[in-house]
Amino acid sequence: MDKSSKTCPKCNIDKLLEEFHKATASKDGRQCWCKECTRQYGKEWDKEHSEQRNADHKRYREAHPENSRAASKRWQKAHPEQCAEQAKLYRERQPTKSRARDKLKYAVKSGRMSRPTICTRCSKIGAIQAHHEDYDKPFEVEWMCKPCHILHHKGRA
Ligand SMILES: [Zn+2]
Ligand SMILES: [Zn+2]
Ligand SMILES: [Zn+2]
Repeated sequence: MDKSSKTCPKCNIDKLLEEFHKATASKDGRQCWCKECTRQYGKEWDKEHSEQRNADHKRYREAHPENSRAASKRWQKAHPEQCAEQAKLYRERQPTKSRARDKLKYAVKSGRMSRPTICTRCSKIGAIQAHHEDYDKPFEVEWMCKPCHILHHKGRA
């Protein structure tokens, strides 16, 4: 075998020794992989690790959602009695209503129901609210946009 060339185990190409980086520790004085493969590998490594960095950032954002939510959570934790009291007062004021809303919210969250993005009244696309005709039937709702929802309640009053 010609001493001035060797086969790169990565790309399986027989290349001149000068196509390999110098490596004093190895017996032929050259690195195992050719320059091209080493460069390619470095690029892949960078790519992989930048993806890893992005994933880390994403995880951090998910673990630390927007500050307002974190702040209100902190407040709730620091004032558990007031919080429970407020929730209780709220439930007592609107018992079936809030229970129906909670049930619906849970159904949407768990994927049993889906919240549409189109108003069933005016077909407008946007933030859609759930209107309960009967709060004893939490899953029987009409989805409508805020203006339609307000109008609907005004019309009944
Ligand atoms: Zn190679
Ligand atoms: Zn509407
Ligand atoms: Zn309503």
